[in-house]
Amino acid sequence: MGVDYYSHAAIGLRVPRETLFRTEEKSLCNHLKPKDAQFCPTCGKHVTEATEIAIEGYDAGRDTFLGYHVEWGTDSEFAYICLLHCASDTSDGEHNMVALRDTTALNQAAITCFINHMTGARIWNQANFGLHVVFVIKMFD
Ligand SMILES: [Zn+2]
Repeated sequence: MGVDYYSHAAIGLRVPRETLFRTEEKSLCNHLKPKDAQFCPTCGKHVTEATEIAIEGYDAGRDTFLGYHVEWGTDSEFAYICLLHCASDTSDGEHNMVALRDTTALNQAAITCFINHMTGARIWNQANFGLHVVFVIKMFD
């Protein structure tokens, strides 16, 4: 049992979790159930189960949205769609912030392109775009 912690600096768009996932109620069996039943009287399963489904453009396995890296905070309540990001380096046991080495994405054309992608996805919000510091704590066995 241990804990790993690191931080990210991200220049990008902060969005609530619900922006990248929609929730669908999925029926767990095909038996007939009375209205308002919580459990199926035939097999005893919950009538439905809430399932999160990634919206179009979000690859939850690779954590990318429209090709942009997505970073999550510890509580996973907010995601950070990154135009640029860097994480602290913990490979030597120390926690050193790594400098942004490639800042070519910080030009007006790249920023405009990012805004256009987010606007096209209907999630652009100027107030949530900027420099974010994301702290991540992960427990492991
Ligand atoms: Zn059933």
